[in-house]
Amino acid sequence: MAFELPALPYAHNALEPHIDELTMQIHHGKHHAAYTTNLNAAIAGTDLEGKTIEQILEKCIDTPAVRNNGGGYYNHNLFWQIMAPNAGGQPSGELADAINKAFGSFDGFKEQFSKAAATRFGSGWAWLCVKKGGTVEICSTPNQDNTLMPGIGCDGYPILGLDVWEHAYYLKYQNRRPDYVNAFFNVINWNEVAKRFAAGK
Ligand code: MN
Repeated sequence: MAFELPALPYAHNALEPHIDELTMQIHHGKHHAAYTTNLNAAIAGTDLEGKTIEQILEKCIDTPAVRNNGGGYYNHNLFWQIMAPNAGGQPSGELADAINKAFGSFDGFKEQFSKAAATRFGSGWAWLCVKKGGTVEICSTPNQDNTLMPGIGCDGYPILGLDVWEHAYYLKYQNRRPDYVNAFFNVINWNEVAKRFAAGK
């Protein structure tokens, strides 16, 4: 059973003006599609075929084609889900409590997450992760790595991720990555992040 590119859960233009339509078309239809195709090619005929993506990421670290394309497949699946039109704002409930405990306040979280995204040199991701027990932590990873891979980043369960590859923002923001990071906060789907928090804590 090959992995399939999931449909976007909203229209390509639904995240305007924060994330533009053409970027979404290329990012989902070309980049994410390529990771999916290349992941399938990399695992074809190996003992990874038929495994879940999580099982693959837990053991793929020594095989670059699986690591890069498996990470790219998983990370973008997460990325589309944790954004939504008419979203943003702040989390509530247990997730808000965990964020306040770890970072002092929502603003403290926003500052540290934005810094992680801005200072990731080259291509990669900024993450908010939950550890067993419910503590949340921020980290960043290079390329398409993520924290499900053993020993990568803070090693927690990723509940929020921001793609800081130039392909994610260059058409609209060019070199202004901090503006893109700031705009991202207007489209965070905190309901989905809270679901992931509950599943991973
Ligand atoms: Mn991307």
